Amino acid sequence: MAEETLIFVALGSNIEPTINVRRCLRELQRIPETRLAGLSSWYRTRPWGIEDQPEFVNLVVALVSRLSPHRLLRETQAIETRLARRRTQRNGPRTIDLDILLYGDTLVDGDDLKIPHPGLTERDFMLIPLLELAPDAVHPELGRPLRELICEIRYRQIIARLPARTCAPAAAATPPPMAAATVG
Ligand code: ADP
Ligand code: MG
Repeated sequence: MAEETLIFVALGSNIEPTINVRRCLRELQRIPETRLAGLSSWYRTRPWGIEDQPEFVNLVVALVSRLSPHRLLRETQAIETRLARRRTQRNGPRTIDLDILLYGDTLVDGDDLKIPHPGLTERDFMLIPLLELAPDAVHPELGRPLRELICEIRYRQIIARLPARTCAPAAAATPPPMAAATVG
């Protein structure tokens, strides 16, 4: 049986984000051979790319999974489809966007899947919530601590970190504490 890997996935939504993020957290817990191991704060962020659209909610979750990177991508894309995401416009409004940021120390460079996610070094709304969960993580391609990369991000999209009451997931989506999870 494949080994367990610690994975970080970014969630983003700007269509009924509170409802859709909670639905997504429940769906993530149904992925086979996978458990939800941690959840960052939720952040309000300015839209990336197309600015004339509602603000986003962004956060990062930690998963521990035995699925391969591509199998996990299929599962996250199936969740996007189930949550009725329609790919109408690149960087446009979406009920949920799921991006795989890190898969252990594994590097993937395919047309359909790139890990680490290329946005990780340029999007504060991916890097800052990830650092909450893995403050000592090292970028497996650059070999540099992620916390160093924050200083080099030119465009800041985060407006605010949401208060805990807003973030609290539905009871069913409450993950166990992150104690055992480390990267690198
Ligand atoms: P974006 O996230 O850039 O707004 P999409 O969610 O529509 O756009 O993703 C476009 C494509 O990115 C997907 O079809 C997927 O195959 C590809 N992709 C490449 N690397 C990743 C990754 N690490 N996580 C998720 N999708 C990825
Ligand atoms: Mg995406």
